[in-house]
Amino acid sequence: MQGKIIDGKAIADDILKKLKKELKEYKTNNNPIPKLVVIQVGEDPASTIYVNKKHKACEEIGIDSEIKRFPETISYSDFLKEIGKLNKDDSVNGILVQMPLPEHLNHKQVFETIAVEKDVDGFHPFNHGKNLLGKKGIAPATPKGIMTLLESTGVTLEGKNAVVVGRSNIVGKPIALMLINEGCTVSVCNSKTKNLKMFTKEADILVVAVGKCNIITEDMVKKGAIIIDVGMNRNKEGKLCGDVDFENVKKVASWITPVPKGVGPMTIASLMENTIEACKQQGKCTCSK
Ligand code: NAP
Repeated sequence: MQGKIIDGKAIADDILKKLKKELKEYKTNNNPIPKLVVIQVGEDPASTIYVNKKHKACEEIGIDSEIKRFPETISYSDFLKEIGKLNKDDSVNGILVQMPLPEHLNHKQVFETIAVEKDVDGFHPFNHGKNLLGKKGIAPATPKGIMTLLESTGVTLEGKNAVVVGRSNIVGKPIALMLINEGCTVSVCNSKTKNLKMFTKEADILVVAVGKCNIITEDMVKKGAIIIDVGMNRNKEGKLCGDVDFENVKKVASWITPVPKGVGPMTIASLMENTIEACKQQGKCTCSK
C-alpha cells in the first residue's frame, strides 16, 4: 500500500484563488476591503517567517494587511493598550497575535483582550466555546484547515476512530472537538499518555500535533489510516520535518499530509477565510467565500 498525498499547498492555493476573485468583485462595488493586523513581539526568526507569509497571502488576495512589531521589552499593560487601540479602530477587521509570546505577556488574557469579532485566530474563549458547541463562528485556523484537508479526501468521518496526539489550546483540543462534532470517536493523547502506540494503532484518523520529529513511526499506525501531520520541527541537520516519519508511514497510510506543503499552507488559507468572515460578521463585507 502507498498512501496518497493530501496536497495542502494545492488545496490552499485553490481557496486563495477563490477568495481573491470574491474580493476583486467586492472591491469593484466600492466596498471597504477587509483589514488584518498581525502583531509580532520580539524577533524570533520563525515568527518573522510566519508573519511575513501571512502578510504576503493578504497582499496576494487583496486583504489590506499591516504588521505591527513590538520589542520584547514591551510591558504587559502597554501591549494590552495596543490591542485595545486596534479593537477600537473601525478600519481593522482582524487582529492576530503571532505566537510564541515572551513569558511576561500572559497568553490566555491576551487572547481574551482581542475583540471577539476581530479574533481571526479563533483563540478567544467565546470562539472556542462556539467550536465546543458545534456552532458556526470563527474557528481556530489550523484545526479549520485540517478539517478542509480531511474533507478533501472524500472519506466519511462519522463513525471513525480519531486519535489526536497533543492537547494544546490552539491545535489538539479544538481539532478534537471538531472531530467529535463530525461524529468521530475521539481519543486525545498527551505527554503523560501511557502506551501511545496502543491509541495510535486504533486510529482511522490520526492527527499529530506534538512538535517532535518522527514521534509517529510506521509500527504505530493502523493500515489504511488517514494521517495529518501538524508538526513543524527542525531535525538535527536543521531540515524542516513533521512529527510523523513520512517516508515509512506513507507505506501503510491511505492518505497522508507532507511537511512542508501540508497543514502549514492551510493554516494561512483558513486565516484569510476567517478575516473575510470576520469582516462579514462586522457587517462590513458582503462577499461570500
Ligand atoms: P504545544 O502547545 O507544545 O503542545 C504539544 C502537545 O504535545 C502537548 O499537549 C504535549 O502534551 C504533547 N506531547 C508532547 N510530547 C508528547 C509525547 N511524547 N506523546 C504524546 N504527546 C506529547 O504545541 P502546539 O502549539 O500544539 O504545536 C504542535 C506542533 O504543531 C509544533 O511542531 C508546531 O510548530 C506545529 N504547528 C504547526 C502549525 C501549522 O500551521 N503547520 C500550526 C500550529 C502548530 P502535554 O500537554 O502533556 O505537555
